[in-house]
Amino acid sequence: MLLFNDLTRKREEFVPITPGKVSFYSCGPTVYDYFHIGNARPFIVFDVLRRWLEHEGYKVTFVQNFTDIDDKMIHRAHQEHITVAELADKFIAEYNRDADALGIRRPDVSPRATEHIPEIISTIEKIIANGHAYVSEGDVYFDIRSWPKYGSLCKQNLEDLEAGARVEPGEKKRDPLDFALWKAEKPGEPSWPSPWGKGRPGWHIECSAMSSKYLGDNIDIHSGGVDLMFPHHENEAAQSEAASNSGKPFVNYWLHNGFLLIDSEKMSKSLGNFLTARAAIEKYPPLALRFFMLSAHYRSPINFTPESLEQSSAGVERLRNCKGDLDFAAKTRRNDSASFDVDGYKSQLQELDKKFSDAMNDDFNTAAAMGILFDVVYLINTTMKDNETLPGEFFTLSQNALKGYDDILGVIGSDEAENDDAEIESLIQERTEARKAKNFKRSDEIRDELKERGIVLEDTPQGTKWKREL
Ligand code: AMP
Ligand code: ZN
Repeated sequence: MLLFNDLTRKREEFVPITPGKVSFYSCGPTVYDYFHIGNARPFIVFDVLRRWLEHEGYKVTFVQNFTDIDDKMIHRAHQEHITVAELADKFIAEYNRDADALGIRRPDVSPRATEHIPEIISTIEKIIANGHAYVSEGDVYFDIRSWPKYGSLCKQNLEDLEAGARVEPGEKKRDPLDFALWKAEKPGEPSWPSPWGKGRPGWHIECSAMSSKYLGDNIDIHSGGVDLMFPHHENEAAQSEAASNSGKPFVNYWLHNGFLLIDSEKMSKSLGNFLTARAAIEKYPPLALRFFMLSAHYRSPINFTPESLEQSSAGVERLRNCKGDLDFAAKTRRNDSASFDVDGYKSQLQELDKKFSDAMNDDFNTAAAMGILFDVVYLINTTMKDNETLPGEFFTLSQNALKGYDDILGVIGSDEAENDDAEIESLIQERTEARKAKNFKRSDEIRDELKERGIVLEDTPQGTKWKREL
């Protein structure tokens, strides 16, 4: 698999540290509010990358943190008159609710910064012992001048970086680019005891400490939005490598997703174009939101507009109609004696499958892969149209193909999670009988009841077809 590595700015063959295994850390949300539709992009795309690596046979350990202590958390908790821990608990639960609705699989480990204070302290102690950090009136700062590699991820020289750096009021650092590993206690803020007095961790150190705890000092993949490349990821790399002092890189492949724009503008509360994932899910089908996120290459910017979401909904609808027609035909049109060229069909599917894999292995090009999925749908639809009867193998092959793609992309959706199929089918059966007996009052009642439950019926010569509305 080729992956564009931001460390080298090149497409590189992905070679894991341990054959067959992938250690993967993705920066997670700061849980001071609902996450927004821009945050949803890394959560969705890197979940799909994780699924793809698993599909390719790797045993993936996927870690995504919750940042549950920082300035925004403290400020918000004050506003709400609750503790920072209460705020975190609330928005971790809300994160899980929205992420589940978006079909984002839960990580193997979801560590919280405040539950890793001992690991954070010991990481800072190692950095100090190795001569790359200093204590200043209860704060601890990373000494970037002691770290010649500083700037190697964001590819900027120190002079340019210095020009953009500032010393905030109250900071006691030697160089504007030095960054806090530990911040001395301030009144009204949560704090923990440490060798440098009571205080709390800086933002970047949690990812270094937790990544090393769960995945080791040298990991395969680390991901996040492109805004995190500097300073967050630059600082993480400096901290982790300064702590381990092993000469090995913290991360072998750095991946960053492009930004999501709304109507071609940067999303911001002040522009009034801010959209939470929760609000988006209420407005658009979650499958359409996933479809939208995967319809562009993950490194390109992506533009969220009502039109693009309508197109995504229509795309999902086409995929689901194909699956619905296929499932219905499998029940009504099966004919094992048909003279259908199963081997020819199988090799057409295999050819498309190869193209799908090639796209996914070409720097994780989900946009191209989705195009191939539509070629598969076209093949299934035309085959059903051109053949009166089809053998069971056609249906098994086609259903397995769609399920396989959906296990990776999650844009078709299975209805298996909902256990009311049998009940719906028995109501449809009752409606068919009522219609035969000319009891139209009852048959209409059943149609209406099903409609209310989001079930749409279509009467065909082969019987009544049904599907769930998006
Ligand atoms: P945060 O909670 O702000 O740390 O963000 C969580 C993740 O969302 C990080 O990987 C960010 O880089 C990413 N992110 C934030 N805003 C956007 C956006 N507009 N488009 C894409 N990714 C974003
Ligand atoms: Zn991070």
